[in-house]
Amino acid sequence: MNVLVINAGSSSLKYQLINVESQTVLAKGLCDRVGSDEAMHKHGLDDNEVCIHTPMPDHDHAVALVLEALTSGPNKAIDSLDEIDAVGHRIVQGGKYFDRSVIIDEDVIAKIDEMAELAPLHNKAAIQGIRGCQHHMPDTPMVAVFDTSFYQSLPPKAYMYPIPYEYYEKYAIRKYGAHGTSHRYIAERAADLLEEDLQDLKLITCHLGNGCSISAVDHGMAVDTSMGLTPLDGLMMGTRCGSIDPAIVTYLMDHEGLTPAEMDDVLNKKSGLLGVSGISNDLRTVDEAAEKGDERALLAYDMYSNSAKKYIGQYIAVMGGVDCIVLTGGVGENSAKMRRMIFAGLQTMGIRLDESRNRTGPREREISTDDSEVLIVIIPTDEELMIARDTYELVHDLIDDPEIDYNPDMLLF
Ligand code: ADP
Repeated sequence: MNVLVINAGSSSLKYQLINVESQTVLAKGLCDRVGSDEAMHKHGLDDNEVCIHTPMPDHDHAVALVLEALTSGPNKAIDSLDEIDAVGHRIVQGGKYFDRSVIIDEDVIAKIDEMAELAPLHNKAAIQGIRGCQHHMPDTPMVAVFDTSFYQSLPPKAYMYPIPYEYYEKYAIRKYGAHGTSHRYIAERAADLLEEDLQDLKLITCHLGNGCSISAVDHGMAVDTSMGLTPLDGLMMGTRCGSIDPAIVTYLMDHEGLTPAEMDDVLNKKSGLLGVSGISNDLRTVDEAAEKGDERALLAYDMYSNSAKKYIGQYIAVMGGVDCIVLTGGVGENSAKMRRMIFAGLQTMGIRLDESRNRTGPREREISTDDSEVLIVIIPTDEELMIARDTYELVHDLIDDPEIDYNPDMLLF
């Protein structure tokens, strides 16, 4: 079965066409700066990628361009749209409604729209992506895969905030988490790699990149996670501050005369590695400056590792132990130095990093010592494959059974 995976952002649309049985990526690409004069479409697998500047007023046009590139031209992957069996859409915020992936119907779209209040740019863009696909492939089943669904298993003591309860009732303010599809993938993959049942493991999954999150996964269920109502919470990130004393927000708004939108900009876009170093949000650039003796860059690097270390400690306490720590994301997968700093001093907790395994080896590997009580593994994440698999699971009966006349408006859930 071929699944088209669509990840629509506010001004972008990333996609992959995946054959699920063989786990092969048949084509991939990105429509960037959708809606601007500089819109650009990149399409093709690695060496064959072509980049075209082309007008794309909205996501509907972007979907049309993607479908054209998949079925025609030098980099075509399939002969016709009939070879796309289903579409899987990444949705950032499913709120309280979705604790798993679902087949998309009008009711699901209405709920995604309702939850847009919590992720305005992403959910609205996702709906445009869904509408674009419905327009161009009206008979193809579609599935919504939510970043938040993995965290619907959190107990109230983890997802509630200690603010007046009425705000939970009135605005549904609670922890929803983010990056859930990535955490779910690396948790499942780690269990496979260790040849253990996920239900038998206590895992701490760490997605460390420009955006960062850490989750506690106890016997297959997420029990806590660092991102909160929004992806601003938790760890220090590339440009996001993560958890800070909330009083800083009102203090700065007062003293700098900032509007809520301006304050939001400071916390989301001007903080983190960028804010502290004053140099970059990119860890490699910060590291280069730190190596040359830049004190703020060194401080930013230290703070990033300390932030991850503290969450690992917290989640060991939450679960009463840990069997395996899983790392992914641009930093988690690639920075041996950051990994060394995060795990330094944790030997007393039975966590021992093997320096030689840490430095080199296959992309997916174990990097703890043979005598470490806690395993440490690197797993490159693959959110698209996870979305394709969920889509497959939900629609293969529909497609394989000619007796079922698929009509998205008729499905009831
Ligand atoms: P995003 O959260 O935007 O998906 P990524 O997961 O791609 O981000 O991670 C980007 C981060 O990974 C950047 O800070 C980058 O410097 C870092 N990174 C990528 N490769 C390396 C590397 N080889 N060494 C150190 N850091 C790296």
